Amino acid sequence: MENCIFCKIVQGEIPSDKVYEDADVFAFHDIHPAAPVHFMLIPKLHINSLAGVEDKHRDLLGDMMVLIPRLAKEQGCTDGFRTVINTGRVGGQEVYHLHIHVIGGRDRLPVMI
Ligand code: 5GP
Ligand code: ZN
Repeated sequence: MENCIFCKIVQGEIPSDKVYEDADVFAFHDIHPAAPVHFMLIPKLHINSLAGVEDKHRDLLGDMMVLIPRLAKEQGCTDGFRTVINTGRVGGQEVYHLHIHVIGGRDRLPVMI
């Protein structure tokens, strides 16, 4: 997708601090970390947001969910972590390429609504 910064990160056109990559997904550290561990897992396929997910994405999303605890542990989240998906304007989404934030590494994260 043209002009999508996360597609550009996947393609290496914008540099990132990579956490993980396979044929279908890419994970990289957030440029403005909210906690000692803060990375994002994204599909390589451009999907605008969780609101744009379709039945054909079922396996891809399932694979991402299975991957998250493994990557979180590798990044040092030994006692839990938070996953966040901001969706659309009301959800505070800034980058319109589906991404799952994985946040941790702090003793206890503040509670969010
Ligand atoms: P959203 O609010 O859309 O869920 O979050 C987008 C996130 O992407 C933000 O936490 C922001 O810091 C991060 N971000 C935006 N641009 C870049 C970038 O160019 N590189 C990296 N690594 N993170 C970015
Ligand atoms: Zn994209």
